[in-house]
Amino acid sequence: MIKTDALIIGAGPTGLFTAHQLKLIGLSCEIVDNLDKIGGQCIELYPDKPIYDIPAIPECTGEELTNNLIEQLKPFNIKFHLSERVEEVKKNNEIWQVKTNKGTEFNTPNIIIAGGVGSFEPRKFSPKECEKFENKSIFYAIKDKTIFKGKTVSIFGGGDSALDWAIELSKDSKVNLIHRRDEFRGAQASVDKMNELAKSDKINLFTKYQLKSVKGKENLEGIEIEHDDKEVKNLETDYVLGFFGLIMQLGPIANWGLNIDKKTISVDTEKFETNQKGIYAVGDICTYPGKLKLILSGFHEGALAARACFKLARPNEKYRFEFTTSSKSIKKRLGVKE
Ligand SMILES: Cc1cc2nc3c(=O)[nH]c(=O)nc-3n(C[C@H](O)[C@H](O)[C@H](O)COP(=O)(O)OP(=O)(O)OC[C@H]3O[C@@H](n4cnc5c(N)ncnc54)[C@H](O)[C@@H]3O)c2cc1C
Repeated sequence: MIKTDALIIGAGPTGLFTAHQLKLIGLSCEIVDNLDKIGGQCIELYPDKPIYDIPAIPECTGEELTNNLIEQLKPFNIKFHLSERVEEVKKNNEIWQVKTNKGTEFNTPNIIIAGGVGSFEPRKFSPKECEKFENKSIFYAIKDKTIFKGKTVSIFGGGDSALDWAIELSKDSKVNLIHRRDEFRGAQASVDKMNELAKSDKINLFTKYQLKSVKGKENLEGIEIEHDDKEVKNLETDYVLGFFGLIMQLGPIANWGLNIDKKTISVDTEKFETNQKGIYAVGDICTYPGKLKLILSGFHEGALAARACFKLARPNEKYRFEFTTSSKSIKKRLGVKE
């Protein structure tokens, strides 16, 4: 059980800057994100695109913004819990008990939801029986490529991830690449390389096919794929990989008793508190009259929510406003020598 003054859900730009604001005023915090990396939409959806409306930064990419926010957090040594989704939020004696899908538990008086458009989840195969093989023989992301060595791997998808992994795994595995269209969406260089490997039989290419069913009781034994013209093929395979992109789902946040309107959470504009005391919502996921879904709005909202957390985390102390330029205690927290 981890005790913290505030728990932040979401490591997008808003969650990151909110952590900075909490630590600046002397509160502890930890961050949970469903993704395996820090940065939210900026890193998942547009790492290379330039952003032009971050105050005092004329131009930076999504990745550069994320790296700068991480750099700004360096003095604080924040604990991130990545690849974990917050599932359960319950109140016990004015303290929130929070649980993730991996079983990590937190006790905190304050939860700041910086969940953006919800958690990013992989789009999955439609046959229901795929679920029982998930994370055993069917994967939507690769953590350890060595398990595929010398095995037969059937890769589904037509974008960069499917192409890149088909090319990479063909070095040491038998690879079937299956796509529901004739055309691939990935980078031309990868499409050319894949076609070259298919010509030399290093990759078995199946276009206009989709997964029809999976076979096997305990272990996956094979799959059936179906052509647009209904012809069915059986393929023996040890592993199946699906790369169909990500979908965003509000997910478990919808079950925490919050005022939700069109996938956003209503808050006040003083503390960014929701209808539940001690639960705040900031960034893209919150709504109030005049809300702008911009990164700069999330920064402002996080700064105010962090100050609101002080009251519940330190009920016997009074919060004192201080500038970073002149506060000795802030400089101490930042490790700045005077
Ligand atoms: C293509 C594109 C271009 C854009 N350009 C600009 C621009 O130029 N300027 C600008 O200001 N804005 C821009 N935006 C919008 C900007 O990216 C968002 O406003 C910003 O990312 C919101 O930040 P956030 O931290 O609130 O949410 P997000 O960045 O969405 O991060 C939320 C995080 O919360 C996680 N999460 C959600 N639920 C859970 C849960 N239950 N458990 C664990 N983790 C969870 C998600 O996995 C995600 O990582 C652009 C957006 C897109 C898509």
